[in-house]
Amino acid sequence: MFDTRPDRSREVVLVGRSNVGKSTLMRELTGHSFNTGRSPGVTRSPNHYDWASEDFMISDLPGFGFMSGVAEETREQIKTDVVQYLEAYADQILVGVLVLDGKAAVDIIDRHTEAGNLPHVVEFFSLLEEFGIQPVVAVNKIDKVDTTDKRLDEIAERLGMMPPWTQWQDVIAPISAKQGRIKALEEAVCTHLEAERVEELKQFFT
Ligand code: GDP
Repeated sequence: MFDTRPDRSREVVLVGRSNVGKSTLMRELTGHSFNTGRSPGVTRSPNHYDWASEDFMISDLPGFGFMSGVAEETREQIKTDVVQYLEAYADQILVGVLVLDGKAAVDIIDRHTEAGNLPHVVEFFSLLEEFGIQPVVAVNKIDKVDTTDKRLDEIAERLGMMPPWTQWQDVIAPISAKQGRIKALEEAVCTHLEAERVEELKQFFT
């Protein structure tokens, strides 16, 4: 598994397929650009960002799923590492932000389902719940979607939440990381930080 984790006991993690915009979102959340080191064949490690003032960090876990030029075996290994990380640090992870590409997600989910496979997004959503980690689904690239409500309803439905999606605003957050529109995510995360009585961490999401 990854061995670069700073010794911080409270954490918010970003997980998702590659190319959904996790690095862009990480930059929006932290104000810091990471060298994404996306060379084919190289297993990526998490990017951790911590603050001196609080015992807290935000971690961007490596993207899984299809990446051109990366062997199937490597992709599977990355996914396994991410699952093991979530399980190992579940007690310290306050919120698991599952980032997806709002434009592509439904087609990808349906393609996997029709082929008889469990879609990654569905799998990770249930894994987070199984590990006792509060999930928040950040539906990114919403700037590329025309029928936003319809799309968000479809995503809710695929994840087992009954539409309309507006009933689930603590869990489903439409955002555009590229445009810096991430308020819905910050609000959802803050709701859970409040519920977990760590109000002092809300400053990192406002
Ligand atoms: P990662 O692989 O998940 O870290 O994805 P990146 O952050 O590298 O983003 C992948 C591509 O999606 C880049 O070309 C980004 O500029 C683009 N991207 C990220 N967020 C958004 C967004 O909100 N809207 C649009 N239209 N593009 C985005």
